[in-house]
Amino acid sequence: MVDRKLVEMKIGVLALQGDFREHLNILTALGAEARAVKLPTQLDGLDGLIIPGGESTVIGKLMVEYGLLTPLRACIASGMPIWGTCAGMILLARTTDNALAGQPLLATMHIHVARNAFGAQRESFAVPLTVPALVDPATPFPAIFIRGPAVLSADPTVEVLARLEDGTIVAVREGPLLGTAFHPEIAGDSRFHRYFLDVVRATVLDTVSTGFIVAPHG
Ligand code: GLN
Repeated sequence: MVDRKLVEMKIGVLALQGDFREHLNILTALGAEARAVKLPTQLDGLDGLIIPGGESTVIGKLMVEYGLLTPLRACIASGMPIWGTCAGMILLARTTDNALAGQPLLATMHIHVARNAFGAQRESFAVPLTVPALVDPATPFPAIFIRGPAVLSADPTVEVLARLEDGTIVAVREGPLLGTAFHPEIAGDSRFHRYFLDVVRATVLDTVSTGFIVAPHG
């Protein structure tokens, strides 16, 4: 049995553009070792990664410039837990309704998204969202949407974590991959980050107990 407390989690936050600092602060406050990732070598040894909100076209372009696209795809293929928020979810989605021509994407999660589905920056809004998977599910999560994407459809392999009142899907999970259309890092509520850390912890413990990838000690 591995003691849960002994598993120290190292979480990267892709720091090419967007609001990565807020994620780093929350992760640190929750006791994880948080690392800003700009270079492929900074992915080494991570247990999980957050791709923040920002502008998916810019983040994708910088991923290519910094040589991160192939290493990130390898991380996904290895089963690393990755959480994309807003622009990050667009980058993770397998298909995007209105991606720019040639926009670099990780194109992995079995969801179909539409960019800017809720209008422009000045049409940003906050809604209390019911998310049964979070701790204290009776308390709605304050979800802040800033030019966010909507999930138009999801394959059966995808668990829908939250919908707006009109049924629009805004939070999803597919195994170790997590996607949210809104910005939990500015919500003043760390329950989504705690949820992601639980996914990471479960993945690390699974890896340790099944003996995969674990470097021998001593
Ligand atoms: N509309 C942006 C995009 O297409 C995402 C906005 C956000 O991350 N807040 O990438």
